[in-house]
Amino acid sequence: MSTERLYYSDSYLTRFRATVRHRSEDGRRVVLDRTAFYPTSGGQPFDTGRLGGRAVTDVVDDGETIVHLLDAPLLEDEVDGIVDWSRRLDHMRQHTGQHLLSAVLAELYGHQTVSVHFGAEYATLDLDAPELTPDQLREAERRANAVVMENRPVSVTFEDAATAAGLRKASDRSGTLRVVTIADLDRSACGGTHVRATGEIGPILIRGAERVKKQVRLEFRCGLRAIGRARRDLELLSGMAAAASAGIDEVGALFEKQRVELAGAVSERRRLEETLHGYRAGELYHQAAPDAAGRRTIVLRDPPGGAEALRGIAQAMTSLGNVLFVGTTATPPTIVVAASADAGVDAGQRLKPLLAGVGGRGGGSARIAQGTAPSMDQLDSVVAALRG
Ligand SMILES: [Zn+2]
Repeated sequence: MSTERLYYSDSYLTRFRATVRHRSEDGRRVVLDRTAFYPTSGGQPFDTGRLGGRAVTDVVDDGETIVHLLDAPLLEDEVDGIVDWSRRLDHMRQHTGQHLLSAVLAELYGHQTVSVHFGAEYATLDLDAPELTPDQLREAERRANAVVMENRPVSVTFEDAATAAGLRKASDRSGTLRVVTIADLDRSACGGTHVRATGEIGPILIRGAERVKKQVRLEFRCGLRAIGRARRDLELLSGMAAAASAGIDEVGALFEKQRVELAGAVSERRRLEETLHGYRAGELYHQAAPDAAGRRTIVLRDPPGGAEALRGIAQAMTSLGNVLFVGTTATPPTIVVAASADAGVDAGQRLKPLLAGVGGRGGGSARIAQGTAPSMDQLDSVVAALRG
């Protein structure tokens, strides 16, 4: 015994009376002779509402029958069902909006919709297109909303699959097809719920396009979802504008200007730091006394600027004459070693075994090397060994 699907002929029906045909032992899975509850299918989520006073928590299409899952056992044999209308209407808007958008994309660019998904926040449709330009996206949205405002009738007919003509996407079903038609635009075989005129869809907002494999996935919202999202976007933009003491139309140019300025400032800072490290290296070099062999050994601990500054100073040291530089920072225990070409020391080869000996790790080139040790005490023993 199959369940009569009342939503097939009237998607505006929210109240109905039905007879229980089957119930599970715990009374929480119920099959009726007829139902207005839409089960999850074709990408459209199930309806919620109440059945005999119990909350409907899921509706499953079981082929011939529709199974209602309830939050509490249902014992009566005759029940009243009430479908949550705001959720259903929202789904009807997203779903009819998807038909319209898919039809417009096929009409304008020949792109076919290969799959759709209706989420709690937004819906997506996947197009068999390698890309969609921003101009195409704008035009599709404009055209879709124009059709919305023309308030074209959306009708449902039952037709023989063998003779149903002009479908946007050929159906692989046989027998009777349920065909949803947007006047002078689209005919699609579909078992979902739809509004009766395009005006009821409300505004359609395409809010994103991303490439997924060799397809384009469009994110869209219809009706109050479109308004709600546009409102949040506007608030976000207004907040950015207020923070910059600018008008929202200026935010784009302002952001670009600041991006360029920031990139310039970062590169200028890098240049200045390099210069500063050079001066600092020169100063340390001239303060250090050469040993009998003419070599200067310089130890520097925790300079302002941390490990970044150490590396800069070490780099500058490599171009000075006959010098071994050892720098450390405490957190985390880090060491940088630099040796000028004429110092007769290979920084990397010298440092690596010393660090390994205290359970640390590191290495580098003959001129410059760096590493870390588990503690400062262990790092100090490495510094002492390097000083010789
Ligand atoms: Zn549909």
